[in-house]
Amino acid sequence: MSNDINSTPHTDMSTEISAETNIFSLAYAQNLDQNDPLAAMREHFSIPKQADGSNEYYFTGNSLGLQPKLARAAVIELLDAWQTRGVKGHFEGEFPWLPYHEFLTEQAAEIVGALPQEVVMMNSLTANLHFMMASFYQPTAKRSKILIEHHAFPSDHYAVESQLKHHGKSVDDNLLLWTPRAHEELLNYQDLWQLIEQHGDEIALILLPGVQYYTGQVLDMAGITEVAHAKGIKVGFDLAHAAGNIELSLHQWQVDFACWCSYKYLNSGAGSVAGCFVHQRHVENTELNRFAGWWGHDKSSRFKMENTFKPIPTAEGWQLSNPPVLSLAAVRGSFDTISLAGGMPALRKKSLLLTDYMMRLIKAELGEKIRIITPQAPAERGCQLSLMLNVDGLDGKAMFNALEENGVTTDWREPNVIRVAPVPLYNNFQDVYHFVRILKECL
Ligand SMILES: *Cc1c(COP(=O)(O)O)cnc(C)c1O
Repeated sequence: MSNDINSTPHTDMSTEISAETNIFSLAYAQNLDQNDPLAAMREHFSIPKQADGSNEYYFTGNSLGLQPKLARAAVIELLDAWQTRGVKGHFEGEFPWLPYHEFLTEQAAEIVGALPQEVVMMNSLTANLHFMMASFYQPTAKRSKILIEHHAFPSDHYAVESQLKHHGKSVDDNLLLWTPRAHEELLNYQDLWQLIEQHGDEIALILLPGVQYYTGQVLDMAGITEVAHAKGIKVGFDLAHAAGNIELSLHQWQVDFACWCSYKYLNSGAGSVAGCFVHQRHVENTELNRFAGWWGHDKSSRFKMENTFKPIPTAEGWQLSNPPVLSLAAVRGSFDTISLAGGMPALRKKSLLLTDYMMRLIKAELGEKIRIITPQAPAERGCQLSLMLNVDGLDGKAMFNALEENGVTTDWREPNVIRVAPVPLYNNFQDVYHFVRILKECL
């Protein structure tokens, strides 16, 4: 069958298969794959295998993206350079280590919609959140509160509480939570506007996700920033689930700062180097408090080893240490893979179709058993769908195990939510078809 498909001229085949109108059929999914301009990108990734040697149905790119072959090649190239050059690797070769992070800047800026001087790849996500708060959370007697969402990723919540304590502020009096209404999962903007209206003059910082990790809800970053700035509040976003997933325009939206990790939709390997954005209007502000290190110091005089800190007038001025170049190499290979695909506009275009297809299949085939808690409007969701199972007596753990036994990798959140992320770089429409088929069988 598949040989026939490959040897049939493309035009003939697509007319033949598009006659298949049953969306819950393999032929329909195959037709979508045939018409997908990014279909070949899958070949740039290593896909984990099932016991029988076939590909896993991998839907956990929201947690750990798969390995791009170019990332592997870049890491090996770096190991070779270290092996053969030793310290001279800092200066020699096509990608010397001293400026290695600079090779990533342009692509990182494109991914988040920033100017090159506004971004730097450095540290890890939670560390960057702290460094950004050192600069952008400067409480005064009157303005000392931080507003976050109730269900913030725990690391973000801990970071914010510890910043309050670091400044001697009581958490009870200074932490404001934007909470979904009773019996709802999604955040409601009316509630946020009301919090800002009521407490605006006392709020120093709003820190929110670009995409909420549990529900997959995309927040209106431009709108939130505008409303907050009108009250004199600084705004930062955690883009862990947004970078590489949806299109962003951080510069244009006037966001003050943002941080994101590179191992989810940016496919750079567990714990790899994170990204950080500081808006252009702040990068040259030497008045801002910051926790400084030598890698943030003016490049021309860094190695004079003098004691007066002179920050680089870009986001690089927030760097501390010489970076882990092995991880930066993985980021480079990953960014090159995204560039090959045509960048975020191309990825988002496919992502909308892929997730829409999954949503339609689930609604048609499993409508009664599954509630999709992710917003359904395209502008309010990314790749990920969060599925709540409405099945009496369902044993969540058994269900998750049954999926695994059938080659489906998803992530399960107690008591009954499955998060699935079809990723446009390496998932195809047939993966989605098989996911829904297997889920239906398991239920
Ligand atoms: C994944 C994720 C993190 C993880 O933080 P690390 O510092 O990279 O370990 C933090 N916050 C959010 C919102 C996340 O989704």
